[in-house]
Amino acid sequence: MPVVRTIAGDLSPDDLGVTLIHEHLVVDVRLPADRPAEYADDLETIVAPMVEHLRAVRAQSVRTLVECTPTIVGQHLPAYRAVAERTGLQIVRAVGTYRDDWLPEWIKASSVEELANWFGAGIAEGAGFIKLGCDPDGPTPAAPRRAAAAGLASRRTGALVACHVGHAAPANRTLDAFVGGGGDPARFVVVHLQNEPDAAAHLTLARRGAWVEYDAIGNRPADAVYIGWLRALADADLLDRALISQDASAYIILGDGRVERQHRLDYLLGRFVPALRAAGFGRPEIDRLLIANPARALALAA
Ligand SMILES: [Zn+2]
Repeated sequence: MPVVRTIAGDLSPDDLGVTLIHEHLVVDVRLPADRPAEYADDLETIVAPMVEHLRAVRAQSVRTLVECTPTIVGQHLPAYRAVAERTGLQIVRAVGTYRDDWLPEWIKASSVEELANWFGAGIAEGAGFIKLGCDPDGPTPAAPRRAAAAGLASRRTGALVACHVGHAAPANRTLDAFVGGGGDPARFVVVHLQNEPDAAAHLTLARRGAWVEYDAIGNRPADAVYIGWLRALADADLLDRALISQDASAYIILGDGRVERQHRLDYLLGRFVPALRAAGFGRPEIDRLLIANPARALALAA
């Protein structure tokens, strides 16, 4: 039976409910040389201010939040657990890497097999999916090796692989390497595809079988742009390849060290879904985007 692996244990995909597929609770995006080993703020200082906001998100009917922070970009498991306990949200977290400049030496030195084993161990130890990162003008020479390793790990575990990439050309090349490593395109998410201005290229990626993810809703571009892209996918009978989210960070340490609290995780249900309805999207289409697609994407072979 397939399961979805949350930080509190495995669930049936049927129990995910409305899911925010790409958000961050706590993340530190500074380069490794600038990032201390530990967060300066203690757990309570980090978590307490976000709880009320996330309870309000839960009250909007959101049941599951996917925390997309890679292992090496300040993942904070005690904070994720505290949020789950205090808000009732089901939280799925990643195991994974990021773009070249963020990689520790041991990842750069790892073979494809070693990296695939590390991804697989992360899934066995409680991560619900694999995260990758690729530069916008990439992939760099090293990135396809990580994508191949993720493909191998995905074949072994069934795990979804979400790749920060944004543009179609590097996404297609990274997907090639993922497939070369043994991955199934249906287990690959092209993250941040709103950065790709060529709308036809979105359809091409969906036709290859990959997930196309629009995940800065409420930030940029305007809702109408997202709605146009989703309509084009629906008209091409490809809405079952689409994922939507906000990429909001409840607590983020920015590159310059400033802390920002982006309490805009209520936009998707509060504003965007009503806009989708007003644009003619029916309940089955909206449920597919918010419930069925995330459940299918996150389902692991147990
Ligand atoms: Zn993100």
